[in-house]
Amino acid sequence: MDASTPECAEWRQIIGGKSVGAVSGGRIDAVCPSDGKVFASIPASDAQDVDLAVRAARQAFDEGPWGRMPAVERGRLLTRLGLLVGRHAEELAALESRDTGKPLRQGRADVTATMRYYEFYGGAADKLHGDTIPFLDGYTALTLREPHGVVAGIIPWNYPLQILARVAGAALAMGNVLVAKPAEDASLTTIRIAELALEAGFPEGVFNVVTGYGSEAGAALSGHPGVDYVTFTGSPGTGTAIQQAAALNNRGVTMELGGKSPQIVFADADLDKVLPVLVNAIIQNAGQTCSAGSRVLIERPAYDAVAEALAGRFAKLVAGPHDADPERDLGPLVSARQRARVAAMVEEAEASGIAVLARGTVDERAPQGGFYAAPVLFGAVDPAARIAREEIFGPVLSLFSFEGEDEAVRLANGTDYGLVAGIWTRDGARQHRLAKRVRAGQVFVNSYGAGGGVELPFGGFGRSGHGREKGFEALYDMSATKTVVFDHR
Ligand code: NAD
Repeated sequence: MDASTPECAEWRQIIGGKSVGAVSGGRIDAVCPSDGKVFASIPASDAQDVDLAVRAARQAFDEGPWGRMPAVERGRLLTRLGLLVGRHAEELAALESRDTGKPLRQGRADVTATMRYYEFYGGAADKLHGDTIPFLDGYTALTLREPHGVVAGIIPWNYPLQILARVAGAALAMGNVLVAKPAEDASLTTIRIAELALEAGFPEGVFNVVTGYGSEAGAALSGHPGVDYVTFTGSPGTGTAIQQAAALNNRGVTMELGGKSPQIVFADADLDKVLPVLVNAIIQNAGQTCSAGSRVLIERPAYDAVAEALAGRFAKLVAGPHDADPERDLGPLVSARQRARVAAMVEEAEASGIAVLARGTVDERAPQGGFYAAPVLFGAVDPAARIAREEIFGPVLSLFSFEGEDEAVRLANGTDYGLVAGIWTRDGARQHRLAKRVRAGQVFVNSYGAGGGVELPFGGFGRSGHGREKGFEALYDMSATKTVVFDHR
């Protein structure tokens, strides 16, 4: 550890409003993906720390001022947190960029989106209300939206700031208290946001952060009987383990488990518009995005032209450090483990004979120890191949061809996932037909929002998970309906 840099300080987690280490004293190194060097450390928490955090949260929910606070006041606190994020924008962007390896411009975009989440949910806190229900004569029946109580938010490493914001924003707006468990690969901005939440005025115990390994802190949190609801973003396998742990306590869950999202390009599409979007949707965050557009389905007459144009663009792509000057097209992957995973899938595809149409490069000045992966474009991919079906989570794009709408839909829906889809055609009737037939939680027509837009409900079908985050919809997941009946005969 290079103790000369101020960031090298040993970071602490936030439990019950206090900045504390792990009870065991254990620590995990924070590694910068651009050079593979340790630049900070975080507490390696286990079940003991999780128990303290859940108890602190429970106390804040049951006894603190939080439970009696009017919704409008909760909203004001969220709004204030968003403003504080804005005041610390450069600091947070630089920290996120260094911890995850994403280019600084992406870190800045993530901060902007994060502010917007807290702004949106700050405004939404007092907008969701119940109904009055026509019932028997002499009775009045109504519903109240009640918070679950203690919400556990298990956060991945790809967009820590944004994913924390969508979880915390909706959960706190509805009056829950939060125990967040960020990924061991990228926890620093989550800790920083919890500190800013205290500064914004959230009562102690409302916004807790426990850092540590998934198998220890994460598993303890998802199975803790004091947790009332679990929300998770990450891999399907881990999602299954978390659901099993939560099921032992019969707790509700929201699962956002990634995708294998298709972009369907018809021959009549505006290619000038579509090409940069296709590239960006797979290199943004070095492809480590749940909504990455990782499959491009091209109508046969346009296949050669689109493949050639994409190959030209891919060959020019350069990966470099998060703080490269001039900026590079993409940063490194988050960890050596992630790079090894992506490399193994690329090698397997090449060995099976799938054609590489183009490959980008890694900046020759990039530090040696970084976790870089050059973008790869595969052509004429067999829909049964592993790279066609499984999430790679790297800058790897697969091209397929189709003939007619039925085949396009069959290919688009041909994986176990169903998170996002893009449809590119000028034919208005076809746009509507396809939007209905494609099985995805979000469908973009002649654009690819890649999950963007705080207002837009987001979530998956099938292996992509269940429950909805973002937008007003998330407020339903983060609350439960209570029916109250008055007999005034
Ligand atoms: P993961 O799903 O294992 O980790 C995500 C979070 O879950 C982290 O906070 C981790 O500590 C926690 N976790 C891990 N095991 C746990 C357990 N048993 N109980 C409770 N929490 C646990 O992701 P990963 O191993 O870092 O990445 C593997 C793959 O997951 C990637 O290659 C990618 O395909 C996918 N992924 C998807 C997303 C997404 O946004 N959909 C995000 C990250 C990773």
